[in-house]
Amino acid sequence: MNTTTVSPATVTRSRGVERLVRGQPTSDGAGVKLTRVLTQPLQQRLDPFLMLDAFGSDAASDYIGGFPDHPHRGFETVTVMKAGRMRHHDSVGNTGLLEPGSVQWMTAGRGIIHSEMPEQEEGRMAGFQLWVNLAARDKMQPPAYRDVPPQGVPVFTLDGGAQVRVIAGTTHGVAGAVTRPTTEPLVLDIVLPAGASFDVPLPAGHNAFAYVYGGVAAQVGGAAVASEHMAILSNDAAADGVRFAAPAGERAVQILLVAGAPLREPIAQYGPFVMNTVQELHQAVADFQSGALAT
Ligand code: FE
Repeated sequence: MNTTTVSPATVTRSRGVERLVRGQPTSDGAGVKLTRVLTQPLQQRLDPFLMLDAFGSDAASDYIGGFPDHPHRGFETVTVMKAGRMRHHDSVGNTGLLEPGSVQWMTAGRGIIHSEMPEQEEGRMAGFQLWVNLAARDKMQPPAYRDVPPQGVPVFTLDGGAQVRVIAGTTHGVAGAVTRPTTEPLVLDIVLPAGASFDVPLPAGHNAFAYVYGGVAAQVGGAAVASEHMAILSNDAAADGVRFAAPAGERAVQILLVAGAPLREPIAQYGPFVMNTVQELHQAVADFQSGALAT
């Protein structure tokens, strides 16, 4: 792990919390229990982000079914593993092991069929999956897949104790494991010990949210956000970023910060296909049924 110490960035005016959202328990794949944090009704508001699932369980029955072969078209999936092991196979011929601390970035483009199956029969499995939309002009690009091992995710620390893994984008002069054009996603996995604060500059036009997943509650732009809640950050034209803080005397807080440039295009979703029009969704289903989706 490459850990560097960087100087803090100063945010003069922090974005506030526009809305708090509690994740919804659901299941997907072959009965994997998860919490859907970013749901379909929030897709326009949080454009270009389409979905965020959080999963975490010590019970094998909650994850053992995994995600057998299924298709995707029109967007990117980002899997952030915190605990446990999953094996990825896809129609392009890629195979990868998702292990704790690793990140998998899959660009479905015009079509990919993949599976993610647990490579363990007991113990904890935890992590996130984020869906990032592709611009209309990029939706039919060839599929691509990247596995980033734990040591490939840059980490930095600040004097106050903040520890930040830069999964995507660039912050504090540190380039993340993945850089994407157009949507310019910034994905940070943040640990703040009690009493620490952390300022993150953000372009005013980017949509952003923070999911608090560890500790009791984090201060986000001055508002308390309890664990397992997502804070949608206000789009305040005068704000130059967001300020996080961990209350003194409590456990460290863990936060996933996600920000990106909106596409401002129509969003049409049918399950694992995300296009711009219903006609394109019909085409995706037809292509999947005929075997032309992932060739
Ligand atoms: Fe998938």
